[in-house]
Amino acid sequence: MSSTPTLKTKPLLWTRLTVLILFMMLFWSSCSQQTNPLIVDDQAQGSTEPALEEIVIPIRVHILRSAESSHLNCLCTEAQITAWFDVVNTIWSSAAIRWDLESFVYEEANNAAEFDRIVELGRDADPGDRHSVVHSMYPLDQRLAPGWNIFFINRMAFGGGVYNPETKSVLIGETSPGGDLNPSILAHELGHSLGLQHLREPYNLMAGRQPGIEPRDKIRLNPEQVARARTIAKSGDAFGGSR
Ligand SMILES: [Zn+2]
Repeated sequence: MSSTPTLKTKPLLWTRLTVLILFMMLFWSSCSQQTNPLIVDDQAQGSTEPALEEIVIPIRVHILRSAESSHLNCLCTEAQITAWFDVVNTIWSSAAIRWDLESFVYEEANNAAEFDRIVELGRDADPGDRHSVVHSMYPLDQRLAPGWNIFFINRMAFGGGVYNPETKSVLIGETSPGGDLNPSILAHELGHSLGLQHLREPYNLMAGRQPGIEPRDKIRLNPEQVARARTIAKSGDAFGGSR
């Protein structure tokens, strides 16, 4: 009678031990399934995407003045422009591109009366007429060439800014119909100067108007854009192609 309890406890102990071991194996297995992919991803990112070497782009800042046209008379300060470029550089850091303000140049705008006429017409202006007037009013003789140039005026004929590959110049208003200049619009126009076109990709820097997405949230660059922009940046001159 005394041996019976011993015989019964031994299998029970083994059963409990087996269950415990199985449970531990299951637990270890589920943990390793959760953590391993993360570890692998981190390692893969580290090995396949080495940090890009920073490219510094000198850009000459032209501040236009006009006694005849308040639209052309830029009132912004060098400190404001520097602060806008701080935001621009945060956006472009994803491509390891940094804009460096080479110098500030103060110039008198041309064709003030013609520019005011185009502003009055707004979106009713003939596109060809508007293009020729808008790009005739900034002087070209003090440009950084080859290189990058940006012209600040008070307010564009419409929209926030424009890039002209013929003059290799960004033209931008310190104010826009929506209010003060949004630096992401400035970063967008500089994207054109690096050969980037518009594309439909949510939150992309070069996306056109997208319902529900604010311009300040459109700051992303995809790998193809980064590669293209860096190629043009390394060339030492702004994009001059048609498209
Ligand atoms: Zn654009």
